[in-house]
This record gives sequence, C-alpha cells and structure tokens, in this order.
Amino acid sequence: METPTPLSALGSIQFPAIPDAQASLQLALQYQFEHSQWKSATEIETAQFNQLQILLKHAQQNVPYYTKLFEKHGIQIPERVDRVFFEKIPISNRKNYQDCGDDFSSKKMPEGHGQMAVGRTSGSTGQPLKFGRSSITQTIWRALSTRDHLWHGRDFTKKIGAIRLAPPDYAPAPAGVQGNNWGAGVDKVFASGPTAFLNASSPLEGQLEWLLREKPSYLLSFPSSLVALTRYAEQKGVELPEILELRCVGEKLSVEHRTYLKDKWRAKVTDIYSCEEMGYLALQCPKNEHYHIQSESVLLEIVDENGRACAPGTRGRVVITSLNNFVTPFIRYEIGDIAEYGAPCSCGRGLPVIQHIHGRTRNRLLLPNGENRMPRLGEFVIYKKYEDAGIRQLKCIQHSLEKVELQIVAARAFTEIEQKDLIDILLKNLGHTFEVELTFPTEILRNPNGKLEVFECRI
Ligand SMILES: [Zn+2]
Repeated sequence: METPTPLSALGSIQFPAIPDAQASLQLALQYQFEHSQWKSATEIETAQFNQLQILLKHAQQNVPYYTKLFEKHGIQIPERVDRVFFEKIPISNRKNYQDCGDDFSSKKMPEGHGQMAVGRTSGSTGQPLKFGRSSITQTIWRALSTRDHLWHGRDFTKKIGAIRLAPPDYAPAPAGVQGNNWGAGVDKVFASGPTAFLNASSPLEGQLEWLLREKPSYLLSFPSSLVALTRYAEQKGVELPEILELRCVGEKLSVEHRTYLKDKWRAKVTDIYSCEEMGYLALQCPKNEHYHIQSESVLLEIVDENGRACAPGTRGRVVITSLNNFVTPFIRYEIGDIAEYGAPCSCGRGLPVIQHIHGRTRNRLLLPNGENRMPRLGEFVIYKKYEDAGIRQLKCIQHSLEKVELQIVAARAFTEIEQKDLIDILLKNLGHTFEVELTFPTEILRNPNGKLEVFECRI
C-alpha cells in the first residue's frame, strides 16, 4: 500500500500537507522510527542506554522509591550506562510499587513533558496500580499505534471493528457503538474510515449479529473472544464475513489459536504485545509471525533467575523499563509474563525479536443456559469506589454454574454494607445472578503456569 498523505490543517495548502502541531509531532516520530528500526541491534541498544542514563539520574534525584532503592543497593549511576551496570539494578514488581504509594511518583519533572495524567491498570491481572504519564508518553504511544498500521499496510479508509472490555452498559450487542474515524493516533494524522465497537461481555449471539451487520475490514479483540465467536458461528452454521485481518490483543495468542483463526477466517492474523502501564511493548513483524520489541519506547529484557539476559529460545521473565515515563518511572519492572527471545529477523530490522510470549489466557464465564461469556470484573468501578480500602488484589473463581467466589486482598476490612455493595458490583459486571461467597485471603497465589488470573473457571 502507498504511504497515505497526511491531513493538512490549512485549508489553503494541501500540497504539501501542513499538519497541526500534534500530528506533526507524531509524523516526526514516524520519520525517526522509519530510520531507527533499520539500525543494528548494538546501535539501538547504545541509544537506549544513553537515554536511560538521563532517566536513571532523574529517578534517583526525584523519585523517593528509586532514591532509596539505589542507596540500599549502593548503586552509583555512571556517565555511560551499559548492560553490565543496568543488570545490577534490582528488579521491582507490581507489589513493590503498590507498597510505596506516592513514593513511586516524581516530585519534580523536567521541562517539556506536557500535561500529566493518572493512569490505572484496569485490574485485569487482579492487582490494580495507579501511575502517572505525560503528554510525551501518550504521543509516543500513539505514534507506535500508527507504526503498527503502517507496518501491516492497513488501508486507513476501511472500517475497523473492536470487541473489547467496557463498563457493563456500554456498547452492548447487537447495537455496539459507532465512530467516524480510527481514533486518537490516526484521526489528526491521516483521513480514516469508520469504527465499530462492541462490549466483549456481550452474548455470542449478539456479537455474531453485530459482526454480520458491521462487516469490518479489520477486527481487533482478545484471542479467546475471537476463538469463542468463531466456534459459535461454526456451531450455528453461519458463514463468517470476509475480513482482511484479525488483530489480537490483551492475552496470549497460542500457535493453535492462530492457526485455527487463520484457517476459519481465511484472513491475516496479527498479534500485539502490550501492557497497561507502558502501552506497546512489541509488534508483530510485517514479514514474520514473531514480534519486534518497540525499542524506541521500552527496554524489554527477558531474564533468568539471576536477572541476566536469557539466550534466544530460553524462557525467561519479562522485565520492562520505559524510556520516556519520567512521571512514574518503571525501571526493571517485572510484569509477570514469560517469553523467549528469537534470532535476528530476516526482515533486516535491528529491533530485537521475541519468538514466543507465554502470557495470560482468559477463562470464560459459564452460564446455566449453556452460554459462555468473557467476564468483566471489578475493573474501574470497584477500584475507584473502594480506593481508600487499598484493594491490593482481587480474583473471582467460578466453582459451579450457580456459585462464584470473590477473593479480595485489602488493607482494611469491609463493613457489612460495603460487602453487599461489592457483591452487587460483581453481579452487575457478570451480568447474571450467581450465589457469591466473599473471602479475604492475605494473598492470592499465582496459578500453576505462574500467572495471576483475575478470573478462573473451575468447572
Ligand atoms: Zn522482522
């Protein structure tokens, strides 16, 4: 596909286009990405460590969590940071950040990072975290989203569809919600086609009706949702609409599911590796089914039990460092995924390769009438409402078609009225009246494959 012409903000000048300030910034990043991706792995890593030296100094001086951490471990930041030095920095996890509260935020910001916003992980891992981000981190996030479109040659004039999690009453099937452009990241930069959004917790019957009516050219969703919808269409003997590409996000895409989806839809299947704290971590190579780390934004390490880089093909823990979040710096932050590096890519890009990601897969909620749904848990609502209770972890377990258990790890106890309210929120989110048992363990353990799951179906 030809590179699309940017939108001009000046009606009187269309050639060459004069984009507005935000779009110009994003296009300037695109220009740099176009060059940086072809640099050698060593050149890219050197540029990353030079950037990290600035971030580490900032964190040491302005972020109490790192001031203390570096002091405790005798870490002196050298003029030139390299991998040997970097691997001496202790790895932190979500619990460390939850424990330190505001100490994880910068007391002072360097100039030019723009407006600060508060981000929250939705709790899809069961461990909510509040953090800050700047206009710059948002702009880089948007530029990477555009890079993904450009890499995969998507036609911006076509329709995109998305089936994702949303609050219970938002965009239910079969109506969903329509938009008239591809949204932030694209709308100011290129002319784009319509979008159709659907709540992933909708019953499959309604999802299929939505799909057959909307017929998007590109469909974005969780692999487990796409597989459930595909199986449902198969069962009902309904032919799937023609589509150009299925875009997977938010959980592990297994080799089996990729093959199944490609086969049934006769469409390209791509995957995106991201996390809520940092956005895009790795995007699928335009030429291969593995992933390229988005090194202009994140230093992603796959490490062994000693915190050292694993060899390609060896499974290790994913540890990430944002190069541009100076509000709440994430430095050597373990996100709980397991992955493997791959060999350098045949496409020629120097961006490091991830061969496999052994991330999370979601369980579906089973209903007594035989339906199954993607459950949406206390995401957003519970956490905001009960923030003062310091909810640290949360998990819902379906024990039978009638009974679910809600486990909550919190800093304080809940009154009887609050407990009733928590149950009501859960039932509203699940969309069915189950018998609910509330339990308050001191800790929620990872499942046998090492993942923290917010919802587990034990039927
Ligand atoms: Zn490649």
